[in-house]
Amino acid sequence: MDYKEKYYFMTQKLKILQFPDPKLRKVAKKVTKFDKSLQNLASDMLHTMYEENGIGLAATQVDHHIRLIVMDLSEKRNEPMFFVNPEYKILDNHSTCSYEEGCLSIPGFNEEITRPDKIDLKWQDLDGNTHNDKPKGLLTICIQHEIDHLEGKLMVDYLSSLKRDRIRKKLLK
Ligand code: ZN
Repeated sequence: MDYKEKYYFMTQKLKILQFPDPKLRKVAKKVTKFDKSLQNLASDMLHTMYEENGIGLAATQVDHHIRLIVMDLSEKRNEPMFFVNPEYKILDNHSTCSYEEGCLSIPGFNEEITRPDKIDLKWQDLDGNTHNDKPKGLLTICIQHEIDHLEGKLMVDYLSSLKRDRIRKKLLK
């Protein structure tokens, strides 16, 4: 049974904050309690992400300022991933890749962003167990994008201020 069949009846779609909402600039707090309310929020975030056809969502984007990220990079959209208190170290500053990124908080805009592609990632799961990995492929890009959200940073910050202003004006209309 996939996630949707199993949990959709008990979860809800949350409202996603949109750029340039200043709440997207808040720095998220570390998660210290691995309880039912954390699991409920993670489930609601996953529901929201699937409904909006996103591949990743940070708690900041739904106005919960804790260090929690949900993701699903699978083709069938049935492999949910949860990252609590994620952090990474860049292993090689000279090794980068460019990818056309999108963001549920900046709907309608895709921009090519260059990021380091060799990182060492550490995170906790919803039960508080610690994990460590050197991710490959899309996960490397996506997790950096989502951790940026927890820091109050957005993909538009990598663009020129001219371009950023153009996007801001279009989204405010
Ligand atoms: Zn985003």
